[in-house]
Amino acid sequence: MRYVIKRDEDKTARLASEATLEDLNRIVGTRNLALISDAVYRDTYNTPDGRRSHVEDQLAIAYQYKCAYCERLTKADIEHYRPKKGIAEDVGHLGYYWLCYEWSNLIPSCITCNREGAKHNQFPILGPRVPAPSFSPDGRLDLALCKAHTSPLLDEMPYLLHPEIDDPEFFFAFVLDPNGEGIRIVGIDEHDRGQRTIEICLLNRLELRLDRVERVISDFKDGVHGLLLELQANQINQTQFRAQLLQCIHLLHMLTLREEKTHTYLRKYIVRTAENFRNIVIPYIDTQATDIVLEAFLLYQERGVLG
Ligand SMILES: [Zn+2]
Repeated sequence: MRYVIKRDEDKTARLASEATLEDLNRIVGTRNLALISDAVYRDTYNTPDGRRSHVEDQLAIAYQYKCAYCERLTKADIEHYRPKKGIAEDVGHLGYYWLCYEWSNLIPSCITCNREGAKHNQFPILGPRVPAPSFSPDGRLDLALCKAHTSPLLDEMPYLLHPEIDDPEFFFAFVLDPNGEGIRIVGIDEHDRGQRTIEICLLNRLELRLDRVERVISDFKDGVHGLLLELQANQINQTQFRAQLLQCIHLLHMLTLREEKTHTYLRKYIVRTAENFRNIVIPYIDTQATDIVLEAFLLYQERGVLG
């Protein structure tokens, strides 16, 4: 998960339309969940390569075509952050039906993070559950109180982190899997929101642990090992080896700025401190080169930039 800025003005025309607002007020007024129409938030249109959805496309752009939870590149579905029809932890609750078309409640998720057994309609909270929508004096839905980042919804203190509200830096760290099966994400905050988010979306499933290594560490590892072979074959000298090592570390830093890459938060995490680099990256490096790679990392940090 990474922090994302999704602008309100990027909401699709259909979601923002008066007709949708009227439909929404009808749903809220009657509490008839059958009136919730997929067509509104799927809002499809034809392209030469097939049917596409305006909402999916707008979400994909804001999230760089990545799943909001596992940060893999994917054809994401439109996921209701707060479930619109029923909540797993609160069987007497109808669900947050009044947020069905709310922009701050729509985020892109891959099928695996959102399937039954994973996120699905789970929505555990620390604070008081908002039981029903709030209305303006004119009897219509109060839209200002439907935003995920304002009261009363924010006061629910959802365990599930919201990528547009919660900065992952305060909630997550990474460790190596003790059985050598990739990189695990772990929760670090006192309220356990990070840990519960990991459990809700199954963020330590095997394919994700291995994908983190393959996408984030492998190129660096191969680069360093290639240089080591060149050094041993006397194709480069020690000075050249160190200089090129710095280039490899520079690239690792530069990739943290490429938000369209997978696992952005992990990329930022591994270069944030020497300790993180030592714990997550160094174990993948040939033991002949670990000291010199760590030394190069410290030198890079000290200089701030190459040169
Ligand atoms: Zn996912």
